[in-house]
Amino acid sequence: MAVLNRVLRLRAASSFSVRSFRSSSFLNSETDLKASSSVIAQNSLPLQRDVKDRNVQWVFLGCPGVGKGTYASRLSTLLGVPHIATGDLVRDELSSSGPFALQLAEVVNQGKLVSDEIIINLLSKRLEASAAKGETGFILDGFPRTIRQAEILEGVTDIDLVVNLKLREEALLAKCLGRRICSECGGNYNVACIDIKGEDGKPGMYMAPLLPPPHCASKLITRSDDTEEVVKERLRIYNDKSQPVEGFYCSRGKLLEFDLPGGIPESWPKLLQALNLEDHEDKQSAAA
Ligand code: AMP
Repeated sequence: MAVLNRVLRLRAASSFSVRSFRSSSFLNSETDLKASSSVIAQNSLPLQRDVKDRNVQWVFLGCPGVGKGTYASRLSTLLGVPHIATGDLVRDELSSSGPFALQLAEVVNQGKLVSDEIIINLLSKRLEASAAKGETGFILDGFPRTIRQAEILEGVTDIDLVVNLKLREEALLAKCLGRRICSECGGNYNVACIDIKGEDGKPGMYMAPLLPPPHCASKLITRSDDTEEVVKERLRIYNDKSQPVEGFYCSRGKLLEFDLPGGIPESWPKLLQALNLEDHEDKQSAAA
C-alpha cells in the first residue's frame, strides 16, 4: 500500500492536473486518504511537467492578520506566479450570485471554516483559469488550513516550500481591526499604528500604518469578518485547526518559519534574504 501510494503521488506530483485536483472536490470530510488516492489515480495524468519546467509551488501559512496576503502578493509579482488566496475566492463567490454564496455568508461571518468540498471546488476553478492562461506554479495563501486539506494537496502535487509567517500575538488583533480594502481597486491597506513597547528583555515593535493613496481613501471598506468578536473566533480556529498544518509540513522538512520583525520596510528585505531571493529583486529593479 505504501509503495502504491508513493507511485500515485509521483504520477500526480509534477502534472498537478487541475482535473485530478477537481476530482478531490467530490470528496467529503469523511473520505479517508485511501479513497482520495484512488480517485486521484483514476484521474491523474501521466507525469508531464518536471519540477525543473515549472514555477515555484509555495504555500503561505500564518494566523489571520499576520500579513500572508501582503507578502505572498509581493512574492508572486517578483517570481511571476499567481497569488491564489482562498479567502479572496470565498469573498468573490460571496459577492457573486454563485451557487455557494448564501451558504458561505453565514459561515464566513461567524469566522468558521468553509467546507473542504466548497473550498476545493473554488480552488479548482481558479487553477483551471490559471492553467488556461498558461500559468505555472503558484503561491497559495490560506490553503491548506486543515490537515485534511494538506493531505488532499499532497495527494495531487509536490509543494516545494511552506512559509510560516509569525507575528507577536498583541499585533494580530489590531492588524485585523485596522485592515481596509479599496472597494474599487481591491488594494489592501491598514490604518492601525502598532507600537509595542519592549519589556522583560523582549524588544519593542513598531509597525507604521499602511495608508491608501488619495484616490482610494474615500472608497475604503472593512471586511465583514474583521470585527473583534469574529477575529477572536478566527484566531481560535487557527490555533485549533490550522496550527497542526505547520507540524504536517515541518515533519516533511518543508517548513520555513519566519518571525516578522516589524512592518514591510523591515520585514520584506529579511524575508527575501531568508528565501535567498535578494538577487532576484536586485535584477528586477535593475530591469525596471
Ligand atoms: P482569509 O481571507 O484567508 O482570512 O479567509 C476568509 C474566510 O474564508 C475564512 O475565515 C474562512 O471562512 C474562509 N476560508 C478561506 N480559506 C479557507 C480554507 N482553506 N478552508 C476553509 N475555509 C476557508
